[in-house]
Amino acid sequence: MRESPARGNVLPVTEALFSHDAYLTTCEASVIDVRDDGVVLDRTVCYARGGGQPGDTGVLAWPGGECRVVDTSKSREDGEIVHAVDAATPPPPVGTVVTVAIDWDRRRVLMRTHTALHALSGIVFTDYGARVTGGNMEPGGVARMDFELDGISQEFGREVEAKLNERLAEDHPVHVGFLPRAEALGDPDLIRTKVSLIPEAVDPIRVIDIEGIDKQADGGTHVRSTAEVGPVRVVKTESKGKSNKRMRIQLGDV
Ligand SMILES: [Zn+2]
Repeated sequence: MRESPARGNVLPVTEALFSHDAYLTTCEASVIDVRDDGVVLDRTVCYARGGGQPGDTGVLAWPGGECRVVDTSKSREDGEIVHAVDAATPPPPVGTVVTVAIDWDRRRVLMRTHTALHALSGIVFTDYGARVTGGNMEPGGVARMDFELDGISQEFGREVEAKLNERLAEDHPVHVGFLPRAEALGDPDLIRTKVSLIPEAVDPIRVIDIEGIDKQADGGTHVRSTAEVGPVRVVKTESKGKSNKRMRIQLGDV
């Protein structure tokens, strides 16, 4: 699955292992390019920042060397996944076989957070008919989501929080699927979440289905079931303009 098609006909070469298995914490990989902004590998477990989810941090280690990955992102030029490394240590040269290890505790909280946001968007749409206009998450279990709502109140926030926690605790499975583009474009849930805006070259389309709660095209990493998200608090509700109301959430410890 290639999410960001490269310029021209050349597809990125990095195999995005996190796309199929978000629970992989480490892998072996070969360095295929070293750029000003970081290291490109033939495969990686590091999630490249996108869709509101921050890029992974971690470590590249090889015989005789080691360096910190301080961020992971996708090159605007060619769509490759680039591991930005700590400038204090020299990066591994092209051809080096490295062990990639992500900061798992940080990532797992981001997975819980991302799944919480999808569940939140599903509940607000199903129960109040409001679509999402934006969202973002930070390490540490903090996130925000904006909705096409005319008004918002603290009471509304509490009501949504109660529904969200109830639905999460029901332990709905979270499925990762790859749908042929033609099929995805005809799926009502995916139409609602604007699947048609995904670049045409992306086929199949990766779909995250939180059974019975929310389904949308998504490149992010998620937990396997909603019970893993744990308790979520709606910590703030605020207006960000007409038909744009924001909820801030904070995940509890699990
Ligand atoms: Zn998402």
